[in-house]
Amino acid sequence: MRLDDLIGQTTAAALLRNAILRDRVAHAYLFHGPDGVGKSTAASAFAQSLNCEGGRPNDPGAACGECRSCTLIAKGNHPDVRLIAPSTGSDAAVIPIEQIRKDLVYDVELRPVVGRHKIYLLDPADRTAPLAIHTILKVLEEPPPYVVVILVTSRSALLPPTILSRCQHVAFQLAGADAIEQHLLTLGVDPPAAASLARLSGGRIAWAIRVAQRPEVLSTRKALLDLCATVQLRAAPEALRLAEDIKMQALTLVRARRDVDAETDVEEAPEEPAHVAFSAGDRALRAELPECLEGMVPWYRDCLAASQGGTLLNPDYESVLRGKAGSRGSSQDVRAIEAILHARQAIQRNANLDLTLESLAVELLTGGGQPISQP
Ligand SMILES: [Zn+2]
Repeated sequence: MRLDDLIGQTTAAALLRNAILRDRVAHAYLFHGPDGVGKSTAASAFAQSLNCEGGRPNDPGAACGECRSCTLIAKGNHPDVRLIAPSTGSDAAVIPIEQIRKDLVYDVELRPVVGRHKIYLLDPADRTAPLAIHTILKVLEEPPPYVVVILVTSRSALLPPTILSRCQHVAFQLAGADAIEQHLLTLGVDPPAAASLARLSGGRIAWAIRVAQRPEVLSTRKALLDLCATVQLRAAPEALRLAEDIKMQALTLVRARRDVDAETDVEEAPEEPAHVAFSAGDRALRAELPECLEGMVPWYRDCLAASQGGTLLNPDYESVLRGKAGSRGSSQDVRAIEAILHARQAIQRNANLDLTLESLAVELLTGGGQPISQP
């Protein structure tokens, strides 16, 4: 993908392209913005533009997408472009200091093998081990002339100011629903599904594309919205069953992914180090649950919108949502959203799955302390 093909990121694309055209490429960039808006894709596209061997005569600053360098970068095999990422599939894993030393600190001393630049993509940079982040500082303070380090993050507040101040910041935005819908149509997604996904994506193009490729995610979201719709009718003692219901939806995604992996013969994920050892089932659930929990947020967001006469993300639930409007305070909906996001974060940080889901269910059923229905 070329920089200009990024969906809804014209400002970021123009900034990066101008840097190449004016020969003012910085040694360190911070690609920051919400999850799923194309930061990683942009980092790869920028790496292609930096090391492209061909170029386009009518399109200066753009990568050709076809030369040896562009092809190797697209495949993740370019000898001078290194992706430094947590080594396991677990969302909770961090990039250890040994990996930062070997793949970055020592490696920058070696000149590029074939390209003009040596490019290091730290993605996500905020998952670098706490001590390792300071070893990166050494590289950012005195980088060899051929080095470009790109820190990719949706949580730049977690990076120390000493790192942030040494990077050129490139902001990525949520894309407009129209742009996402148009892009999904070019990928061959059905027009009704494209329109619905574009609205639900909340501007995150990567999410929309991923879900378009996994129809079971959409059906799981529908099941979760049905669950949310009945939460107010449930009694507080049903919390354990609600927690189990949420888990069941995540299991549906786990099974669907296994079926796809079996068909495409995907290799098993490598084992984690002992301190983050989970059973395979636990690890698979942990990978899918954040998606599930995220699918519940639009419900409570729509409850707020319905009570204020706003536009709904889930118009298919309009009559239920408008019917509920005013039946409970908007602060309960806000607390529900906070509780869901908190649970999602806890799971990504290796908290006990069952306990996290159960305490979330209690929060949702009691509206943050006040029982809203009795057995
Ligand atoms: Zn090229």
